[in-house]
Amino acid sequence: MVPSNCLNCSPGEVSPAACSKFVKHGFYNRSSDGKRIQRYRCTGCGKSPSIATFDHCFRQKKRHMNERVVELLCSGVSLRRVAMLTKLNRKTVVRIFLIESMRAEFAYRNANLDMAKADTIEFDDMETFEHTKCKPLSITLAVEHGTRRILGVEVSAMAANGKLAKKARRIYGPRKDERRAARKRLFARIENSVKQGATIKSDQNPHYPRDVAKAFPGCAHERHKGKRGSLGGQGEIKKVKFDPLFSLNHTCAMFRAN
Ligand SMILES: [Zn+2]
Repeated sequence: MVPSNCLNCSPGEVSPAACSKFVKHGFYNRSSDGKRIQRYRCTGCGKSPSIATFDHCFRQKKRHMNERVVELLCSGVSLRRVAMLTKLNRKTVVRIFLIESMRAEFAYRNANLDMAKADTIEFDDMETFEHTKCKPLSITLAVEHGTRRILGVEVSAMAANGKLAKKARRIYGPRKDERRAARKRLFARIENSVKQGATIKSDQNPHYPRDVAKAFPGCAHERHKGKRGSLGGQGEIKKVKFDPLFSLNHTCAMFRAN
């Protein structure tokens, strides 16, 4: 791929005329993976970019490990453990995580745009925590019924409840409940992926009907009886004969344990 424009003398300019300003200018061997890289020279300013300048891995020294790190991080392996297994530095693993997660999100959103709008969707909050069970998080999730296509995900903080509530307040102070705001964000994001008059399934959480009616006027809201999942366990995989929210619960279980 010939660079389309010179980042030094015409940044941002993308025109076919700008291409003619480049001439081939030898090769170099990339040290990280030994690949032979074509250099080009800009006849305007004399700078010599290469095909690597425009690569999404530009300036990465451990690009050959990206795929392995992603595999491990998507398999429930911790950042430090990935560093140990791949013999990379802990900070390199974090950098790969940040870069690849951005690319993954971009690809995921693009793929969702190309797909047909959903007829029936299921949504719910799943609970997990950051650092300690005293700081619970809620993941609000919407999936397409049947295919389990993930339409949207939003993460929000919530206060601890039950036995831990008192202790959590004493140690970490009051914690905001941002679940409603997250639900609104999620609904706004998936609006374009849901058909008009679609069926929306959820559990019997008393906060849902108002938000659903507001975000999806004209859609039917089916509320099914369901038990809360436990904080770190197999709450979603229930021994019941038929789970009306199976698509959603199965996705939650895969989030936790894959
Ligand atoms: Zn130039």
